[in-house]
Amino acid sequence: MKKHWYKKWRKCKMNFNKLSFGSTIGIIGGGQLGKMMAQSAQKMGYKVIVLDPSSDCPCRYVAHEFIEANYDDERALHLLGESSDVITYEFENISAEQLKTLTEKYNIPQGYQAIQLLQDRLTEKQTLEQAGTQIVPYTSIKHKDDLSKATNTLGYPFIVKTRFGGYDGKGQILVKSEEDIKEAEKLVSNQECVAEQFLNIKKEVSLTVTIGNHQQITYFPLQENEHRNQILFKTIVPARCNQIENAKREVEKIIKTVHFIGTFTVEFFIDCNDQLYVNEIAPRPHNSGHYSIEACDYSQFDTHILAVTGQTLPDKIETLKPAVMMNLLGKDLDLLEDEFAAHPEWHVHIYGKSERKPNRKMGHMTILTNRIDDTEKDMLKRFEGRDQ
Ligand code: ADP
Ligand code: MG
Repeated sequence: MKKHWYKKWRKCKMNFNKLSFGSTIGIIGGGQLGKMMAQSAQKMGYKVIVLDPSSDCPCRYVAHEFIEANYDDERALHLLGESSDVITYEFENISAEQLKTLTEKYNIPQGYQAIQLLQDRLTEKQTLEQAGTQIVPYTSIKHKDDLSKATNTLGYPFIVKTRFGGYDGKGQILVKSEEDIKEAEKLVSNQECVAEQFLNIKKEVSLTVTIGNHQQITYFPLQENEHRNQILFKTIVPARCNQIENAKREVEKIIKTVHFIGTFTVEFFIDCNDQLYVNEIAPRPHNSGHYSIEACDYSQFDTHILAVTGQTLPDKIETLKPAVMMNLLGKDLDLLEDEFAAHPEWHVHIYGKSERKPNRKMGHMTILTNRIDDTEKDMLKRFEGRDQ
């Protein structure tokens, strides 16, 4: 990767104006993350305008104003800019080029560089290498012929991921043996990919961080995650391992390389030798940070709003109680919905998506508990009947 990219980042705004309460925040993207951001913003007296292509997106009904438009609709983005005192975003798949143009005209303290580097799995990996973090061995896959290169350098099993647009395991193929190569070739014939060694994972963890005005840094506790079918299934806090200092060291390396303002999350793998690998970075609030709404004195959305509006961040996030967060996919709602009424301790969040699909994230629930292992067992039992 070219070194001069980094020079540009130094010009990014490190210090910016504090917005008075009552100012307007524009959010690109009106899914559940946009909705929870808006709820934090409104608690602090900000107005919210959201831009989303879907007329019944979850954020619409909690925002003051709604712009129904595609994320790359130039006119709509400028309308959002003209109407807002600051712009933020809830997801990374917006055009970095367009964000760059908007940055020249409007107040976007997050800038465009994090999006530009992290929305592409290849430049994300190159950035992580440049930062000096430990990542899983990988190789770039431009043509289907490169798959044999992956077989030779990585060995089976390896996982092929599209460079752009993947989430919740979408755009990924696990190649266990030669038999799976045909499937991988199909994926590669449509778009460029990366292939990475499939790691024997002992545990997955993530660390949510917020960076505010004057480079103030606030860490959330280390989060322990379990994925099923590559979709986050549950998060437990605090993580049951002693990797927090190692994880913070990796994050420190990353923030010396990438310009962040606001909340972001670094996902990690831990292998059987307790080696920590950075998996990926989400430059926005993250599903594994949702527990913070009830379990911490500030949620990841609160600190995000404080950061982008230039307010002072809390130095430290207090975990009020250990927590288990369970995602509620469509199939989980089918299974558990009737039980909600009897369990006020579950802290159920329903995002308000109109169409329920078996693997769509429809909500989540957080249980505060001093008996994490027992609560985890209870939840596993209740979620039985869904596939592993
Ligand atoms: P997404 O952008 O969809 O979250 P990830 O790369 O984080 O994509 O993959 C989703 C999940 O798939 C991970 O959290 C992990 O459980 C599993 N996974 C991804 N890459 C690997 C790998 N190299 N080795 C083992 N498991 C992996
Ligand atoms: Mg991930």
